[in-house]
Amino acid sequence: MSDGAPMNVLDVDALKGEFPILKRDAYGKPLVYLDNAASAQKPRAVIDAMTHAMEHSYANVHRGLHLLSNETTTAYEDARKIAARFLNAASEDEIIFTSGGTDAFNLVSYALGVSEIGEGDEIILSLAEHHSNIVPWHFLRERKGAVIKWLDVSDDGEVDLGTYEALFSARTKLVAVSHMSNVLGTLTPARDMARIAHAHGAKILFDGCQAGVHGAVDVQDIDCDFYAITGHKLYGPSGVGVLYGKKSVLDALPPYRGGGEMIDIVTTDMVTYNDAPHRFEAGTPPILEVIGLGAALTWMEGKGVAAIAAHEARLRDHVLEELSKLNFVRVYGRAENKAPIVAFTVEGAHPHDVSAILDRTGVAVRAGHHCAQPLMKRLGVSATARASFAAYNTHDDVEALIRGLRKTHEMLG
Ligand SMILES: *Cc1c(COP(=O)(O)O)cnc(C)c1O
Repeated sequence: MSDGAPMNVLDVDALKGEFPILKRDAYGKPLVYLDNAASAQKPRAVIDAMTHAMEHSYANVHRGLHLLSNETTTAYEDARKIAARFLNAASEDEIIFTSGGTDAFNLVSYALGVSEIGEGDEIILSLAEHHSNIVPWHFLRERKGAVIKWLDVSDDGEVDLGTYEALFSARTKLVAVSHMSNVLGTLTPARDMARIAHAHGAKILFDGCQAGVHGAVDVQDIDCDFYAITGHKLYGPSGVGVLYGKKSVLDALPPYRGGGEMIDIVTTDMVTYNDAPHRFEAGTPPILEVIGLGAALTWMEGKGVAAIAAHEARLRDHVLEELSKLNFVRVYGRAENKAPIVAFTVEGAHPHDVSAILDRTGVAVRAGHHCAQPLMKRLGVSATARASFAAYNTHDDVEALIRGLRKTHEMLG
């Protein structure tokens, strides 16, 4: 890039104007929404796409031979093509619609527990995982006798590749790790981790519920077996997500839930199954939510995923810089490669109180263990506050957080 290419510059004020909810107040103060890592707000494009479907073109998908069903099926399958493009999958047949991140990990856990992970087989998880990418593997430990091996992370949430490689054995079947921590925002060296997993004959799954929001994802470049993203953090609706699976892997994977659409032939004595991805989409899917997710991904592409990431990197630098000036605030995670997700504690104050006081100033942040208790233990805390930024956040929002923290300190310090 030679000069300031306009393609890479976000008009944040205009973009923010596309989110109706951001016009509301909180206790009479301007709303400063910094809980995006828990769930992001929705632009008009997503709201309109879902409303349009309900008002103009709604029926069940895949089964009808009538106009509305055909139109809805087209919209649903278009969303699959959009998701394939968003992740740079080789084909839309590698895109399974799930009900979210949690559903994706349960699907893979269940199916691999049927086909290849048994007693004594090993699964590698990192200490920075979200509970949704831990508990389904505990199921395999409890029910199948699988063994979980834990990958330590640094204080900044970083993975050491040597430590990682040392965890493999002839029994390692799967690595399941986050591509980006929802607490520290640290990005994982996905390509190297995938290469090492494959060299040891293991499959690798990435939890992309955060990474998919804050930068471009290329599943072919990473060369992973599975990759999960979730709609509600991607400016889309809740109740929907995407599980990418490499074609050859999905073709060999047994189904998870049984029901309509996922079958080929059902008799009183036997059943045969549909091909991937339909084999993994039993029953009526979240039709409106899939259409909404397609609109959200298209919206992100329209703004430019790189432009959003560049804006967020400036917000990250700004907030880290300002926080470092507050001697009563401790920040967790200062990795170089991190998104604007900032965990912190305030001296002498419980994170819940910090969050409650900030809330009264109009600033919404998260406080708690962030569904990552093993990471909390690793960091030596029971809870932190967390401010997480999105495309529509501004530098004024950073200032509002800092003002709110000064006030918190005055009140509690
Ligand atoms: C939110 C989140 C999940 C869970 O996704 P849901 O769609 O809410 O089930 C998993 N992993 C990470 C890193 C997350 O941030």
